[in-house]
Amino acid sequence: MDHLDTEVVLVGARVRTMRDPDDVHDALAIRGSRIAAVGDEASVRARVSSAARVVNAGGATLLPGFIDTHVHIEDSILFDWRLEGARSRAEVLARVRAVIETTPDDEWLVIGGTILDPQVWPTAADLAGICRGRNVVLAFSSGVHSFSPAALDRINWAGVRSEHADVETDESGTPTGIVRMRGVGRLHYIIPTQPTTTSAAVRSALTLGLRELAKQGVTSFHHMITNRIPVQIYQEMYANGELSLRVGLLTRVYESEISLDSIIETGLAPGFGNEYIRFQGVKVSIDGYFPQGGALFSEPYEGTCSCGYLRIGVEEFTDLVMRAHAAGLRICVHSNGDQATRHVLDAFAQAISAAPARDHRHRVEHAGNIYLPPEMVKEFAELRLVAVPNPTFMHSTVSSVTPRLGQRRGRHPLNVRQLLDAGVTVGVGSDFPALHPGDPLIGMAALIDRRSLSGSVYAPEESIEPWEALSLYTRRNAWLSFEERDKGTLESGKLADIAVLPCDPMEAGAETLRSSRVLATMVGGRWVHVGDEDHRFTENISREITHA
Ligand SMILES: [Zn+2]
Repeated sequence: MDHLDTEVVLVGARVRTMRDPDDVHDALAIRGSRIAAVGDEASVRARVSSAARVVNAGGATLLPGFIDTHVHIEDSILFDWRLEGARSRAEVLARVRAVIETTPDDEWLVIGGTILDPQVWPTAADLAGICRGRNVVLAFSSGVHSFSPAALDRINWAGVRSEHADVETDESGTPTGIVRMRGVGRLHYIIPTQPTTTSAAVRSALTLGLRELAKQGVTSFHHMITNRIPVQIYQEMYANGELSLRVGLLTRVYESEISLDSIIETGLAPGFGNEYIRFQGVKVSIDGYFPQGGALFSEPYEGTCSCGYLRIGVEEFTDLVMRAHAAGLRICVHSNGDQATRHVLDAFAQAISAAPARDHRHRVEHAGNIYLPPEMVKEFAELRLVAVPNPTFMHSTVSSVTPRLGQRRGRHPLNVRQLLDAGVTVGVGSDFPALHPGDPLIGMAALIDRRSLSGSVYAPEESIEPWEALSLYTRRNAWLSFEERDKGTLESGKLADIAVLPCDPMEAGAETLRSSRVLATMVGGRWVHVGDEDHRFTENISREITHA
């Protein structure tokens, strides 16, 4: 337990406290799991004992650890990245062949990677020769899968089709192999032996996800859970001192094994838990996913007669919102299309007028990714709803907006400037690892220069200042976690959760930020990631860790 008293002073740093845009110092002291002092080197050294270890940060920038408020971390198992970066159907098939040749004949084989271009997705016919009799599922993005012929045959599609999945068919009514799940992580509903249902598999997925997030400077994240397994694993990890990052639990209460009644009956409220595992509220998804044509709009997608779909009936949804709000629970609603968001605003208006509460911090996930009319933006401000867009939507998905929605509705993707100017409280989440990269540096860069993965610039008038972008990932997301007293700024008494960067995001420019890597990540006074970048900071810290 000597960790509690350990004192470390980081000197020669650029300590950006995030208290205000000009508050920069050159030293920071840590005692145990908390920040002991911030200031100039002499004053900080004066606040610690002579036994404190002093490490030179080599000019690196220290920031409050990043907070990601929207993560599906156990989907790391579906996104094992074995297909990542494949650019053609032929390349996907070659990788699938390689996996099959080197893997024993498992019951089910799930191979994943973020591939957003439908032209690249193989069909069952493409997979037939390679997979032969094997049950193979390719996972491309949130909910889009390609099934081998044997895998297609094994599923009783009539039974699962309407509730959990849309099975694409050709003109003759034969399934093509492309299956769109109604929700991330739904795969285990239709593959009974799919590995996300076993705790060993979930544990390895969580371990993988925790490592990825730590590399990105993330120190806290909110995990959308649908059953007890990840909660049990987090508790085991915590008890064994293996939980490297801080977890907020957002419990789905629809499309979930956990009911709203059970949460209300247990008396859980936001804030319940400890510094490492904390209950954050409940989650419901009202519509589908935009890239799959599932987001519900008031007008059809371009060139189609489909407006998207609801995943829950409006009456049932409104009832859930009313009951959760009345029970004092914070509610997060996934809503993408304007028609879905119309229902969300109506339900919250009804719930809030029935039981007025000013500090509810209710959230609308993905709000702001796609254009909302100004009158709806105004309602967000009036109801004090928090919009939680995904900044990396700009990186990976934005190019599909205008083709799918047309010029008028496609003109203001990721309208964070408009939201902030209208007085809407904004937070950010990544949706990692489903559709968008998690990396906060890519997210901040996109918010500032509005550039996508391909280099195109979208709606530059929606650009926000570096200070605002950095605030979203730190102080604003801390508030969104009900944890502003412990997180979000670097101040004496707060948790020692720190992201170390080679550059200062306030001055580096978006392009530098986008190509920078986090040097190291600290959670509660412990280094949970130290990169191998060639930098004096990583050299000094690595030496410090080997000596400790
Ligand atoms: Zn999500």
